[in-house]
Amino acid sequence: VKSFEYFAPSSIGEAIALLAEKGDRARPLAGGTDLLVKMRNDLLAPDFLVDVKRIPELNQWLFSETDGLTIGAALPLCSIYEHLEVAATYPALIDAARMIGGIATQGRATLGGNLCNASPSGDTIPALIVLDGVCIIASSTGQRDLPVEAFCAEPGRTALKVGELLVSISLPIPKLHTGTMYLRFTPRSEMDITVVGVGASLTLDENYSTITDVRLALGGVAATPLHLEDIGKALAGRIPDEDTWTEAAALAKAAANPISDVRGEINQRQHLVEVLTRRALRGAFGRIQRGVNDYVKD
Ligand SMILES: Cc1cc2nc3c(=O)[nH]c(=O)nc-3n(C[C@H](O)[C@H](O)[C@H](O)COP(=O)(O)OP(=O)(O)OC[C@H]3O[C@@H](n4cnc5c(N)ncnc54)[C@H](O)[C@@H]3O)c2cc1C
Repeated sequence: VKSFEYFAPSSIGEAIALLAEKGDRARPLAGGTDLLVKMRNDLLAPDFLVDVKRIPELNQWLFSETDGLTIGAALPLCSIYEHLEVAATYPALIDAARMIGGIATQGRATLGGNLCNASPSGDTIPALIVLDGVCIIASSTGQRDLPVEAFCAEPGRTALKVGELLVSISLPIPKLHTGTMYLRFTPRSEMDITVVGVGASLTLDENYSTITDVRLALGGVAATPLHLEDIGKALAGRIPDEDTWTEAAALAKAAANPISDVRGEINQRQHLVEVLTRRALRGAFGRIQRGVNDYVKD
């Protein structure tokens, strides 16, 4: 690894001043499970690392039943599934966080790092999209909010400008009668990169008989994770049954735009989108029907 200078600021102000001053030669460091690996493999060689783990706002955990959840960008993934209220409210986020690497990786890796790494197959990103996540971004000119679906610009590049820092991610409280799920396919169950990932959020009316809202998002099938907004809209008013899941799955397959690479062929990825979309919608429906979710035991 090429030598670099290490900074560990204790405030957002200090961090963004450093990032603005050092420009492209600096990189924020969170858990380092992407960044340090890239540096060891000579894929990146920053001159300055700005460790963001000592900044209080990036380690903040706020939850209320009215305002929802705000997760500091530097909190490790394991802290997410330690919170029972999150497990009860945002199961799709737990689905994704528990899939990333093994326990050791989840002890270091952060939600902010997964987003800022901007991998097309980053597992938390489709989950955050269907949960209506918003990125809270700080810079010397103040704070701005950006929906998660607009955060990734291309593989490895985000919408962050030089001198900007991801502070936290906010999730609203889901509407009543909502179920969410994230599923992925990898050849091995852990320590592998996702071939295709699908997030689904399904909301039903008060009689549980009609779909009022759907959000679908795909990972691993385009340059950035995709929000399938039109398909979600097309499903409003439909009956929550197998025919609807099958139709949605076919539409999602048609919307996917994958490439072939070492992890999967185009046809395989399209097939996976279809299978996983059907299962994720069915699974989200099951979570509504049960009225509980798989992570909170009575
Ligand atoms: C063994 C192993 C298994 C893995 N398995 C998976 C997997 O199954 N699924 C998956 O999606 N990923 C996986 N990963 C990748 C990685 O663990 C995740 O992407 C992780 O969430 C990255 O978080 P981090 O805190 O380690 O990020 P870091 O490596 O610290 O940073 C990643 C990038 O984000 C930038 N960054 C970090 N924080 C901020 C911030 N607050 N503001 C602006 N920029 C920031 C950094 O500069 C860097 O470019 C795996 C990695 C390993 C080593």
